[in-house]
Amino acid sequence: MPLQAVRPKILGFISEQASAWLVALVVLLVGVALTAVLALTTADVYQQQVRQRFQLLVNERYIRLEERFEDQEQRLGSLRRFFVNSHNVSREDYDGFAQPLLLRARAYAWAPRIFHDQRQAFEQQVSLQRGMAFSIRELNEAGTLVPAGERDEYVPVLYSQTQSLLGSPLGFDLLSQPLRRSTIERAYRSGAIAVSQPMSLVGVEPAYATGVLLVAPVTRPPTAQMPYSEPYGFVMAVISMRQLVADGLPKPSRDNLVMQIVDTSDTQQRVLYESDNAVGDSSLKAIRRLTLGDHVYALSLRPSQVFEQANRSSVTSILAMGSLLSLLLSALLYVLVSQRQRAVRLVQQRTGQLHQREYELRGAHAQLRSVLNAATQVAIIATDLRGVINTFNAGAEQMLGYQAEQVLGHMTLESLHLAPELEARAAQLSQVLGKRIMPGQAMLVEGSDSLHEAREWTLVRHDGSQLTVNMLATALLDDHGLWIGHLAICLDVTEQKRAYEALAARDRLLKKLSAHVPGGIFQFTLEPNDNWRFIYASDGIRDIYEIDPGLLQQDAKQVFERIHPLDAERIRASIRLSALQLSQWREEYRVQLPGRGLRWIRGEATPEELPGGGTLWHGYVSDISDLKRVEEELRALSITDSLTGIHNRRYFQDRLKAEMSRVRRTSGTLAVIMLDIDHFKRINDRHGHAVGDGVLQELCRRIAQRLRRSDVFCRLGGEEFMVLCPNTDGAQAYSLAVELWEVLRSTPIENVGTVTASFGVASWRIDEGVDGLLLRADSAVYAAKQAGRDRVEAERLPV
Ligand code: GH3
Ligand code: MG
Ligand code: MG
Repeated sequence: MPLQAVRPKILGFISEQASAWLVALVVLLVGVALTAVLALTTADVYQQQVRQRFQLLVNERYIRLEERFEDQEQRLGSLRRFFVNSHNVSREDYDGFAQPLLLRARAYAWAPRIFHDQRQAFEQQVSLQRGMAFSIRELNEAGTLVPAGERDEYVPVLYSQTQSLLGSPLGFDLLSQPLRRSTIERAYRSGAIAVSQPMSLVGVEPAYATGVLLVAPVTRPPTAQMPYSEPYGFVMAVISMRQLVADGLPKPSRDNLVMQIVDTSDTQQRVLYESDNAVGDSSLKAIRRLTLGDHVYALSLRPSQVFEQANRSSVTSILAMGSLLSLLLSALLYVLVSQRQRAVRLVQQRTGQLHQREYELRGAHAQLRSVLNAATQVAIIATDLRGVINTFNAGAEQMLGYQAEQVLGHMTLESLHLAPELEARAAQLSQVLGKRIMPGQAMLVEGSDSLHEAREWTLVRHDGSQLTVNMLATALLDDHGLWIGHLAICLDVTEQKRAYEALAARDRLLKKLSAHVPGGIFQFTLEPNDNWRFIYASDGIRDIYEIDPGLLQQDAKQVFERIHPLDAERIRASIRLSALQLSQWREEYRVQLPGRGLRWIRGEATPEELPGGGTLWHGYVSDISDLKRVEEELRALSITDSLTGIHNRRYFQDRLKAEMSRVRRTSGTLAVIMLDIDHFKRINDRHGHAVGDGVLQELCRRIAQRLRRSDVFCRLGGEEFMVLCPNTDGAQAYSLAVELWEVLRSTPIENVGTVTASFGVASWRIDEGVDGLLLRADSAVYAAKQAGRDRVEAERLPV
């Protein structure tokens, strides 16, 4: 089944084939898109919430201010009613009533209407009541109060309850000032509360200076006779707008709203009050109407920075958090997918490797099995830890006569052994190792004498017969080095033993034979690397070379040190030639021995080519010194004339040939002197044959005395002689011949008298052969004979 078919998807939906980067990118994009949708939705809700919250604040603020405005109207109304309902209000009465009213108003005052003609009486009356000078006053241009000028009517402040520290401007004529005057006139006309245009209050801290004046006319209570009467004075309230609207509200730094109050009746639209706190960035704005007396005020409300801070949008954080989460998620998925893919790749790789290993292992196993069964000459037996056989190869079947099925799982290695042998070995091992060894373990335990070495054991075949094997038993270990059984490898050595014994017997025979053979026999090799070596050297070699045969097996050079220097090179060359031509080697040579001196040796050997190159000789060497000596004597005899002791004809001929070939090579000179005794027959006849022999001997002695060392003196036969003169030309030979002629004839031979001879000289000519030269010498002797004998005849020049 293909691997892909069962492969699950990552997290249940991501294919393992998908690129990790692609998965991460898709997740990031989806995450960012979801975050954007969430942020948009949140932004909407947020806007709505902010609007609602703002409206709540606006309503609350508006209601509060409306109440305050109404409250101010009501307070002034109650003061007015107090005056309307009281017949005569003293200063104490006024203070007692007005003081509790003084809440969020700067001052309450009472100003009666005084007509021009009443002024003086009024001023006197008030001065009297107050105990101090009182006059109706007005503000001059410098801003100080001065007695008022002449007018038809005055409305001077008579009673005043004020919070101002500067005190009340008693006597100040309200009609003297246009703004106040117009307010009083509107109150007078309407009979209701009139409110002044925004004005700057006198005697008030600057922050509170902007305010209005509320004026209400005071009339007598209506009666049946007078249902309507003219106002006889005015009560008024001085209101600082800040005090009215801001007192009791949160401090600017904590106020959520920014307020602005504008008098709509004012042509200049002056701002009566404005909060000190900063306006936020929001576009939210609310405008409400506030009524005070006959004036309408626009209350404008906007959210402050405090409000915005308190209602900060969570969109940014949602975007940030969403993006971060998307990023983290995509990174996580990237890691997950890529790790998973890597893991899958690794698994595939490992699976591949495992398949390969399994394939190789199967191959190796089959190979091992084939090897086990192919080894038919070797018994391979493996056992488990208990010794029960679990491997029994074809070689073991063949060797022991059991079938593998009879043995496997049924028999132990011990049961194949000869019991007494095992017991004896166990006893021996127990003694050596100092602990008890069971017979069943004897073949597995290594004694100190046989460390990892094969040992001979006797095994019992299926048919009860015995066989000797060489068995190597080793422990079987698994991959972790744990002992899992034993392996025994057995080699049938019955035949080997027999062969060994036969070989030993032949070796003994060879030794005996070689000991009794004169000389020595040897095996000698010339190896491809030019190494000379004796493979075998019998004891006889010791006598031949006076070297130990054991040493020669290591190094053959010592033999060449013994060989005579004149022969050594020749012997080496002949060995090489024999190796080259595979021809019989046969040589005679001299050796110089430390003990026995110079000896002659004869060697003979047959070469054969070795498979790896090189040559092997089988041969013998023997001492032929005695033979050589006899041979030498024989040779000397063969070239010596027995009567005279000088060289014979054969020697002369050999030497002549050799000298001729030399002279041909070197273009030197060569001459011969031939002589024949004159009338020798007569000597024989006269003195007998023995005297004749004596004459021959005497002649030889005399001539040999006069010859040079290089000259070769031979008896050709009878009474004919020849002198071979190397490096001698015709003239030199002639003078030598004359000397010889004289030495012979000058002294008579005892009992015989003077003996003479005829001499012929011949020198070698270019391109001349042996026969030509001898013929000419012979002709010269003949010429001498013909000329009368007893003379030297020089060679004849060619005709
Ligand atoms: P010429 O040479 O002067 O002509 O006379 P000749 O007497 O020497 O003649 P020829 O050479 O024919 O004779 C040689 C004789 O030498 C014949 C032979 O009996 C004798 N003769 C040969 N060999 C020996 C020898 O070994 N011992 C003795 N005693 N005589 C020998
Ligand atoms: Mg003769
Ligand atoms: Mg003669």
